[in-house]
Amino acid sequence: MSLPRRWVVAVKHGIDVNLTRADPTTGRIDLARAPRKTSDFDKNAVEEAVRLREKHGGTVTVVTVGPATAREAIRDALAIGADEGVLLAAPDGPVGDSRAVAGTLAAYFRTPGGAFDLALFGEGSTDHFSGTVGPRVAAELGFPSLSHVRQLTIDGGHLRVHRDIDSGIEELESGFPAVVTVGQEINTPRMPTFLSTLKSSKKEIREIPIDSLGLSASKWTRSIVIQEASVPSVPRKKIRVSGENPSALSHELVELLRREGIDGK
Ligand SMILES: Cc1cc2nc3c(=O)[nH]c(=O)nc-3n(C[C@H](O)[C@H](O)[C@H](O)COP(=O)(O)OP(=O)(O)OC[C@H]3O[C@@H](n4cnc5c(N)ncnc54)[C@H](O)[C@@H]3O)c2cc1C
Repeated sequence: MSLPRRWVVAVKHGIDVNLTRADPTTGRIDLARAPRKTSDFDKNAVEEAVRLREKHGGTVTVVTVGPATAREAIRDALAIGADEGVLLAAPDGPVGDSRAVAGTLAAYFRTPGGAFDLALFGEGSTDHFSGTVGPRVAAELGFPSLSHVRQLTIDGGHLRVHRDIDSGIEELESGFPAVVTVGQEINTPRMPTFLSTLKSSKKEIREIPIDSLGLSASKWTRSIVIQEASVPSVPRKKIRVSGENPSALSHELVELLRREGIDGK
């Protein structure tokens, strides 16, 4: 059996939820203008693929589905150590959902240039977090799906993983090709250095229009529509806590909390 060498990582250029602000009057969040960044767990997935390549050889390819701006996520992954990138370029128009993204990725993986031995995904994205893209791709391709993986080794042509389950840790073995999803327990992603960032700017990013993958439009357009994203308004009571010294202040605070029904029991 030939050893696995083609490592693929799916990365999402998602919304940076820490930097996203709601409109102060309406509470609405403008998702189209929200700041973006590489989804957190995707960096763990890239790190793991780079470690596999360092140990077993081969090539790490990162792939993203999105508009031209999603190249930034590919650049981040190349700076961590991935070898090449693929942008599955979405036409202007409505943003796809997890079903559409999984269908698009699966179509690309079926092409000769997209074949892989192991595909790594984040367990869920930092923004929408449906946690379905990796398992959906595995199902579309008919490959084993190993989710919530916290440890991964390759031994005698087999993939062995430890995965988190509610009651503990499960150990599984699988052949290749396979799809895994990972979270932050699996590793600590290396910080790109000045040199690795410089080198990454010379690495190739191939751009493939989604509509050249032979998919019908219904396969890559969304079936779920985000009607609105907003922050619920919390009416402020504007209560001032006063007191001459810290002891009086804390007494007053405890009294106010009791009146609110919080009695510490
Ligand atoms: C036609 C089309 C147009 C799109 N246009 C845009 C756009 O304009 N702007 C934009 O930001 N996004 C765009 N997308 C991407 C899409 O909005 C999200 O990626 C999708 O909603 C993923 O759902 P999720 O975050 O719940 O995935 P989850 O299942 O929570 O994500 C889990 C993992 O799947 C992988 N993954 C998720 N999304 C992607 C992705 N897009 N590419 C590669 N791997 C991924 C990552 O490894 C991630 O950690 C477009 C997609 C399509 C098909």
